Amino acid sequence: MSRPDTVSPQPPAQQHRCGFCAVVGRPNVGKSTLLNRIVGDKVAIVSPRPQTTRNRLTGIKTTGDTQLILVDTPGIHKARGLMTGRMVATALRSLRETDVVLLVVDASRGLRPEDEDVAALSAQAGTEIVVALNKMDRVKKEALLPLIQRVADLLPGREIVPVSALTGENVADLLDTIVSRLPAGPALFPADEVTEQTERFLAQEMIREKLLLHTREEVPYNTAVLVESFEEKPDRGLIVIRATIYVERPSQKPIVIGEGGARIKEIGRSARLEMEAFFGTKVYVELFVKVRRGWSKDARVLAELGI
Ligand code: GDP
Ligand code: MG
Repeated sequence: MSRPDTVSPQPPAQQHRCGFCAVVGRPNVGKSTLLNRIVGDKVAIVSPRPQTTRNRLTGIKTTGDTQLILVDTPGIHKARGLMTGRMVATALRSLRETDVVLLVVDASRGLRPEDEDVAALSAQAGTEIVVALNKMDRVKKEALLPLIQRVADLLPGREIVPVSALTGENVADLLDTIVSRLPAGPALFPADEVTEQTERFLAQEMIREKLLLHTREEVPYNTAVLVESFEEKPDRGLIVIRATIYVERPSQKPIVIGEGGARIKEIGRSARLEMEAFFGTKVYVELFVKVRRGWSKDARVLAELGI
């Protein structure tokens, strides 16, 4: 995890807290939903299918005097017994890089052996651990108490917070608990930033990569791709992406489109295959080509592209 140099205006460092929190837990326990709920913006893909999130994605929650950088970490949930030595080492390293580990457990399913493995791994990393018992909206109070007791036995002295990422219940308490464990320090990201690396940006990069691959030297390297819309349709297990490829000159447009649209079709197809593998869900890609003279000098486009 790289700590960028970006620094925003803020109160004196001794009052300000800032740190990283790794969100860990088995697939489908609600990590992405919780991350989105905390950040208050959609930053991670949520889907009823397990393991939708393949990469580390961060959500950033900035308040007046704190900045919490959340990391969605798939992979760590893997049962420890099934991990090779190197995988354990990698998992431990990424856990140690963070200030707090947020272990998310699906309270409606109780504590599973994998949860215990993740808990043990987190404890071994020696990092602060906060446990979120998620999906409390699906659990009766009588069932919640014994679960809290079991987790307390497993991780003595750690904070255990029942929450519902879906309804938002107790999420503010959970956030306070996490933030109170962050070290003092200045903000690392601008206050208005919610995520470091959104799926939208990743989609854009994947399309751009395919565009360059299929057009080779025929279109200049600075051809831009702008994802106009990125819609998740979890009920249909689908992501619909509409993107525009901006070329500088009219002569470049037919090159990108190709004979009878063959090239743009191939760019879309190969980008779709990569995105489907990455996001773990079906993807529908629609591409448009537009000529935008001097787009690279257009401030609005540059801002949208995050350049
Ligand atoms: P992840 O794999 O851990 O990132 O889990 P997701 O965030 O993708 O959520 C998996 C499923 O659980 C989705 O269908 C969510 O809508 C659902 N879910 C997440 N949080 C809650 C919750 O607090 N209550 C209920 N009832 N469902 C939840
Ligand atoms: Mg997820």
